[in-house]
Amino acid sequence: MDFKVNPLDLNTAADHSRVEKVLILGSGPAGMAAALYAARADLNPLVLAGTEIGGQAALTNTIENYPGFPDGIGGAELGELFQKQAERFGARVEYDMATRVDFSKKPFKVFTYDKEYQAESIIISTGASSIKLNVPGEQELTGRGVSYCATCDGWFFKGKQVVVVGGGDSALEEAIFLTRFASQVTIIHRRDQLRAGAILQRRAQENPKIKFILNSVVTEIRGSDAVHSLRLKNVISGEESDYATDGVFVFIGHKPNTELFQGQLEMDSRGYIQVNQLMQTSVPGVFAAGEAADPNYRQVITSAGMGAAAAIQVTHFLEDNV
Ligand SMILES: Cc1cc2nc3c(=O)[nH]c(=O)nc-3n(C[C@H](O)[C@H](O)[C@H](O)COP(=O)(O)OP(=O)(O)OC[C@H]3O[C@@H](n4cnc5c(N)ncnc54)[C@H](O)[C@@H]3O)c2cc1C
Repeated sequence: MDFKVNPLDLNTAADHSRVEKVLILGSGPAGMAAALYAARADLNPLVLAGTEIGGQAALTNTIENYPGFPDGIGGAELGELFQKQAERFGARVEYDMATRVDFSKKPFKVFTYDKEYQAESIIISTGASSIKLNVPGEQELTGRGVSYCATCDGWFFKGKQVVVVGGGDSALEEAIFLTRFASQVTIIHRRDQLRAGAILQRRAQENPKIKFILNSVVTEIRGSDAVHSLRLKNVISGEESDYATDGVFVFIGHKPNTELFQGQLEMDSRGYIQVNQLMQTSVPGVFAAGEAADPNYRQVITSAGMGAAAAIQVTHFLEDNV
């Protein structure tokens, strides 16, 4: 008889036997704040980190509006600090990704590619992802001039001309950041006014490297091995034109990463998980926090606050129900 055991089988067996008190999906500000609070309540939480450790915050160069850091802090660094602080009190982080869930009965089940987790309570903090332009050339040229992360890719555009698409806070922050590398940054926005906050607007307008094309949309990204130009359409006149550029950074918003909860939890028409003030979802014992459940504020501090609130409610839920 062959007594060799596949380590994958051992993992699976171990995961089947353990029922976590609280399983947190996502390692962004909401997930890590939830982990910190749950750990300090002695719940030994397990966090499934997903593919983006530290969440969207880790994609940005500097965060200047998270209290406690008067000189700002690097996005990735803040994520590392969140994780370190949560782990100090007993949170565990696994680099795994939920692919399917079953919230129909307890213990709740969360499946990844090769494991199954069970938990008495769940905190969903899977955040949101960038919305694509969905124009010809975008997909083919992603990584070859099309980017959704200035911190990650800005360096590649040293001395080059780039375009930023969008008019919100993220678009302007990233445009300003890109002026460190690029010789010129053109912000293209579909409306006649920017949506970003006043301070950011002023900084962008005063930056000699930044120029604006308003009332315009990108209808095509052109290039073969690299981006060389965009097709633009003026939304007022309908006029079309070509615009030469070496790169396109797209910051036109986000959509919640909640597809895997479809049919299990109540959501709004855009896919945001519906929660009440106590971060409770439509399934008792399943809580949601951060951008997965928040179409309004979408900040590190608000997401972290929701994560902390969810963990406090999990503590009450487990006291009452287990
Ligand atoms: C470019 C940029 C700049 C920004 N600048 C600022 C700023 O200066 N100040 C500010 O306050 N906010 C800023 N934000 C917004 C801020 O980053 C977000 O509001 C915040 O990160 C949201 O936190 P979250 O935890 O809800 O979600 P996210 O940060 O989106 O984290 C989601 C987490 O869930 C994980 N995940 C996703 N799907 C799964 C799954 N199926 N299984 C397991 N895990 C999963 C991901 O890997 C990730 O770890 C910026 C965002 C961007 C994109």
